[in-house]
Amino acid sequence: MPHKRHCPLCANPIDPEFRPFCSRGCRDRDLLSWFGEQYRTPGRPTDEEADSLPASGNDD
Ligand SMILES: [Zn+2]
Repeated sequence: MPHKRHCPLCANPIDPEFRPFCSRGCRDRDLLSWFGEQYRTPGRPTDEEADSLPASGNDD
Protein backbone atom coordinates (compact mmCIF):
# COMPACT_ATOMS: atom_id res chain seq x y z
CA MET A 1 0.00 0.00 0.00
CA PRO A 2 1.15 3.56 -0.57
CA HIS A 3 3.44 5.02 2.01
CA LYS A 4 1.60 8.14 3.01
CA ARG A 5 2.97 10.52 5.54
CA HIS A 6 1.42 10.33 8.92
CA CYS A 7 2.16 11.76 12.29
CA PRO A 8 4.75 9.53 13.98
CA LEU A 9 3.01 10.04 17.30
CA CYS A 10 -0.63 9.42 16.58
CA ALA A 11 -0.67 8.41 12.88
CA ASN A 12 -3.05 11.14 11.83
CA PRO A 13 -2.50 12.86 8.49
CA ILE A 14 0.26 15.44 8.66
CA ASP A 15 -0.53 19.11 8.67
CA PRO A 16 2.07 20.94 6.54
CA GLU A 17 2.20 23.67 9.10
CA PHE A 18 3.32 21.26 11.80
CA ARG A 19 5.05 18.58 9.81
CA PRO A 20 6.26 16.07 10.32
CA PHE A 21 3.43 16.05 12.81
CA CYS A 22 -0.30 16.44 12.55
CA SER A 23 -0.76 19.24 15.00
CA ARG A 24 0.97 21.57 17.38
CA GLY A 25 0.08 19.25 20.19
CA CYS A 26 2.00 16.35 18.69
CA ARG A 27 4.90 18.57 17.73
CA ASP A 28 5.14 19.87 21.27
CA ARG A 29 4.86 16.38 22.62
CA ASP A 30 7.79 15.30 20.50
CA LEU A 31 9.84 18.27 21.62
CA LEU A 32 9.11 17.47 25.23
CA SER A 33 10.08 13.90 24.55
CA TRP A 34 13.43 15.03 23.19
CA PHE A 35 14.05 17.24 26.18
CA GLY A 36 13.06 14.37 28.41
CA GLU A 37 15.58 12.08 26.74
CA GLN A 38 18.36 14.57 27.22
CA TYR A 39 17.24 15.22 30.74
CA ARG A 40 17.34 11.51 31.53
CA THR A 41 20.71 10.89 29.90
CA PRO A 42 23.28 13.26 31.41
CA GLY A 43 26.10 11.45 29.69
CA ARG A 44 26.81 8.70 32.16
CA PRO A 45 27.66 5.15 31.13
CA THR A 46 24.66 2.95 30.60
CA ASP A 47 23.16 1.91 33.88
CA GLU A 48 21.68 -1.56 34.01
CA GLU A 49 18.76 -0.49 36.15
CA ALA A 50 17.96 2.48 33.95
CA ASP A 51 18.36 0.31 30.89
CA SER A 52 15.66 -2.04 32.12
CA LEU A 53 13.05 0.71 32.12
CA PRO A 54 10.54 0.78 29.29
CA ALA A 55 11.49 3.09 26.45
CA SER A 56 8.19 4.89 26.61
CA GLY A 57 4.87 4.35 28.19
CA ASN A 58 3.10 6.64 30.55
CA ASP A 59 0.68 7.95 27.98
CA ASP A 60 -2.51 8.50 29.86
ZN1 LIG B 1 -0.27 13.53 15.81
